[in-house]
Amino acid sequence: MAESPGLQKRVFVASLATETNTFSPLRTDLQDFKDSFYASPGQHPETPTLCSAVFPVARRVAEQYRWTIIEGTATWAEPGGIVNQQTWTFLRDQLLEELRCAMPVDIVLLGLHGAMVAQDCNDCEGELIELVREIVGANALIGVTFDPHSHLSQRRTDHANIITLFKEFPHTDFVEAAEHLVKLVHRTSCGEITPHMNVFDCRMIEIFPTSREPMRSFVDRIKALEGNGDVLSISIVHGFMAGDVADLGSKVLVITNDSNSAGTNLAQKLGLELYSFRGNTRPEFLAPSHAVSLALEANDQPVVLADVWDNPGGGAAGDSTVILNELFAQHVTNAAFATIWDPIAVRTCFSAGKNAEFILRFGGKMSDKGGEPIDAEVRVRNLVRDATQSFGQSVVPLGDCAWIEVNGVDVILNTVRSQVFNPDIFSNLGIDPQSKSLLVVKSTNHFYAAFSRIAKSVIYAAVDGPYPNNPITNNYKNLNRKIWPRVENPHDH
Ligand SMILES: [Zn+2]
Repeated sequence: MAESPGLQKRVFVASLATETNTFSPLRTDLQDFKDSFYASPGQHPETPTLCSAVFPVARRVAEQYRWTIIEGTATWAEPGGIVNQQTWTFLRDQLLEELRCAMPVDIVLLGLHGAMVAQDCNDCEGELIELVREIVGANALIGVTFDPHSHLSQRRTDHANIITLFKEFPHTDFVEAAEHLVKLVHRTSCGEITPHMNVFDCRMIEIFPTSREPMRSFVDRIKALEGNGDVLSISIVHGFMAGDVADLGSKVLVITNDSNSAGTNLAQKLGLELYSFRGNTRPEFLAPSHAVSLALEANDQPVVLADVWDNPGGGAAGDSTVILNELFAQHVTNAAFATIWDPIAVRTCFSAGKNAEFILRFGGKMSDKGGEPIDAEVRVRNLVRDATQSFGQSVVPLGDCAWIEVNGVDVILNTVRSQVFNPDIFSNLGIDPQSKSLLVVKSTNHFYAAFSRIAKSVIYAAVDGPYPNNPITNNYKNLNRKIWPRVENPHDH
């Protein structure tokens, strides 16, 4: 191959990601990573996943940028409880060893989530980036993508050169965030720009769906600011209230072309604007009985009802029976419910076989706040091995799944935990979502992107269950600074 020495850059790419709900009754181990997504070096599929979009994006630009890509492992576990220490050290050290073998490298691209907590490490990503820096030295470039539901520690900004986050919630733009990162890293490596990161701490924690105002316009404006003057990139760290760590909270990250003052000012201006939205960014969350009766009154169907807190995508188990019992109590029929995580019940349904009718116990197992298990006569309507659903271009595994009919409601039981992203979670099991009056989905807001296309209305139901949904009363032990709503005016001194 005719290569001009010195022009070709060596680029190491890896992805190691999960979101840790430190209050979750679950624990996360290596099998959870293997169940959700695990690609050994060279095995990453062409389709991107949420946090590993740097892989297909880097491959695509490799020839144009004269990059030699050396791929490490890419893995992701569905959000869950604390990562056991052995699993964290194994995955961390495996990545670092792959990097050592790839040396010398000019660039490291990491697809991370940003809210991973292990038994003895509250800032897994900070530790990882610092250890990567030790290996590659001061002159190599480290570029990182994070999910906005992350904790941005100074350790991360100290040791990375460029960080980009998804801007949208639902995260429909994870590929764009990787493309944005890759472009900035390339321009930096060519000497065209000198990225400088400034962070403003908004001292708050809140939910920021960008599918509605005021966040919709805010994100649109931020995008329009990128590329103007010295502003290279703007990211909003939403924060993740279920992670008890020192850096919990919302932050604004501005990257300028070597302009500390412009970066500081813009991060503060946008950060205080975000702070001014506090208390006004969420849709209305209704009590389950109110939510279900409202759904029954709707004339146009299907109505989509979100069980916002029993969200496996936020690290909850996803086996709460509270809203399903509410459907039974209000005699709802022609409804479909996704999903109840219960591997034992799925196993039993497979043993019973399609069309079997029997009394099954399912759900309500992982938390004393997730409702009681349901004991009911069910009919097994369908059984699918290794079922999946879509999320954007990515394919999300659900494991073996059973569609059961119980009290006139179609319920999907799954074995690999996942929040609900797409109506094909129903159709892949054989349920036509458009024929239903009511679709219940366990998800805080990710469902919205795809379900809003078929939903005649969307209702958000909040069960005060296993998810630590109230930052005022959540028992934070590691949070060491004042944030709203725990204090009224955290910016006052
Ligand atoms: Zn997220």
